[in-house]
Amino acid sequence: MNETKISIKAPAKINLSLDVLGKRADGYHEVKMIMTTVDLADRVEMTLLQEDKITIESTGGFVPLDHRNLAYQAAMLLKETFHIKKGVAIHIDKHIPVAAGLAGGSSDAAATLKGLNHIWKLGLSLDELAELGAKIGSDVSFCVYGGTAIASGRGEKIQHITAPPPCWVLLAKPPIGVSTAEVYRRVNMNTVVHPDLDGMVDAIEDGSYKTICNKLGNVLESVTLALHPEVKHLKELMLRLGADGVLMSGSGPTVFGLFQHETRANRAYNGLRGFCHEVFAVRLLGEEQEEN
Ligand code: ATP
Repeated sequence: MNETKISIKAPAKINLSLDVLGKRADGYHEVKMIMTTVDLADRVEMTLLQEDKITIESTGGFVPLDHRNLAYQAAMLLKETFHIKKGVAIHIDKHIPVAAGLAGGSSDAAATLKGLNHIWKLGLSLDELAELGAKIGSDVSFCVYGGTAIASGRGEKIQHITAPPPCWVLLAKPPIGVSTAEVYRRVNMNTVVHPDLDGMVDAIEDGSYKTICNKLGNVLESVTLALHPEVKHLKELMLRLGADGVLMSGSGPTVFGLFQHETRANRAYNGLRGFCHEVFAVRLLGEEQEEN
């Protein structure tokens, strides 16, 4: 492997189940989620610089190119924690829609932690990188590992579980912006209908695709749907086009549909493209991935 340059894949995630258990004293919500990776990915390339600076550029999507970028924050966190005097040039090739509920930024941050661990020769374990990642954002720890997991706490406590059976996933992001903070603020703990998360874990462990489709659930969905009715229309359309199960991912607005058969997924993909600009037909990855 090249010692001065590394390129790491940063896959998107979807939530098969997302529950909010309550509001914590520190302002975060206590959550319990089942996350799994899909094969829609950014690519983060890092080149070692002898000069003590971090540069960042991106192609393919509009993201901040300064300290607000989560990949930049990951590099800065490592520099400060381990007193690194070397620098890095980061290039992000964006494929994951931004602010979509697919953890694109968190995955870029996780890829940056893994890449710099290599080119800055830090020798950190995945567990150590995941612990550091939690300081950048709640989804970064999961993204360090990938695969399929139950995430709890504010999302940073990871328990690995078996991968769901392979299937096709159609992702469709309507052209609207959703504020994750606002969606969480609007969750009413007195009226939330909790998803059957334990039932989903059993269904995944049994490899029961049909039960997985029936148990999809996300507490944030009704909040985002009330704010943006187009997300509801997208869900209905995906079902009409033959999805076996549909759900909004994270705080939205991306909606995903599960399909057992490629031909039906492709047909639905073509049907959706007339309504939605950002549509992707991808595979559920589920298993922990090779980094490159
Ligand atoms: P999550 O599912 O973890 O809530 P998300 O998919 O909703 O994440 P992101 O695409 O990660 O959202 O973007 C959230 C915000 O982070 C956006 O406002 C974006 O400008 C900012 N951001 C910072 N760095 C990145 C990055 N590398 N890629 C995408 N967004 C980034």
